[in-house]
Amino acid sequence: MSRSIVSFVGAGPGDPELITLKGLRRLREADVVLHDRLIPASLLDEVGSSTAVIDVGKAPGRHCMGQGHINWLLVDWARRRERVVRLKGGDPAVFGRLGEEIEAVRSAGLAFEVIPGVTAATAAAARLGISLTERGSASTLVFATGTDQSGHCPSALDWDVLARTEGTLVFYMSVGALDSITASLTSLGRDPREPAILVELAGVAGERVVAARLGDIAAEARAADVKAPAVLITGPTVSAASVPLTVRRVSSHVSV
Ligand code: SAH
Repeated sequence: MSRSIVSFVGAGPGDPELITLKGLRRLREADVVLHDRLIPASLLDEVGSSTAVIDVGKAPGRHCMGQGHINWLLVDWARRRERVVRLKGGDPAVFGRLGEEIEAVRSAGLAFEVIPGVTAATAAAARLGISLTERGSASTLVFATGTDQSGHCPSALDWDVLARTEGTLVFYMSVGALDSITASLTSLGRDPREPAILVELAGVAGERVVAARLGDIAAEARAADVKAPAVLITGPTVSAASVPLTVRRVSSHVSV
């Protein structure tokens, strides 16, 4: 029976100080680290000199390494080394294909653990000084993907429910689909005057924030040439945002 353990570690959204102490310990003790593209590069300075470090990163729309190959590599390394760290951006369990990787490890009869991380939504909210929930006005919090497997706005989402949801909606992977996301929400009854905010590279050098009404944010983001990674947050609590100093463009439509 193999004594190996695969640790799925959340690296956080980009600020190297946002990894957990437990995650950092696993990283320092690892025999091998397989990491995503979107992880703070300085975290790799923490691994030992004899540790194998493998970049299995995937760029948006450009799959460097297929998911099947990543699953295979994980299992292959875990059969040969005891302490395998799979370092994933943000929280491994949020839009991180964690389920597929766990399934591969579990079917190979290997042990695993998941060490959570700070997800992009909470990192962005922290930078803006907003609460994602609020008694009385935001009792629901939704994390949704803005793109499906084909790279389009997901038709599988229940847009009618999202449009009517009282509270905060956070869209990951949404930059390329902002027009469809906002049109879907507002055409089904979400208030186009609701405050919305797009946070690019939350907590990382180059962070930018675009704030506007929900009905205007796609055009504003285009004008500001916002790029991935960014999250779209919309809901009543967004109006309380105190925009950090790194902001380069803020729409005049909303006072933030
Ligand atoms: N597991 C990650 C999400 C991976 S999906 C997490 O928990 O955060 C990739 C998407 O995450 C990006 O398209 C973007 O929407 C979001 N994202 C990741 N890092 C980000 C950052 N620093 N700032 C804003 N959005 C980020």
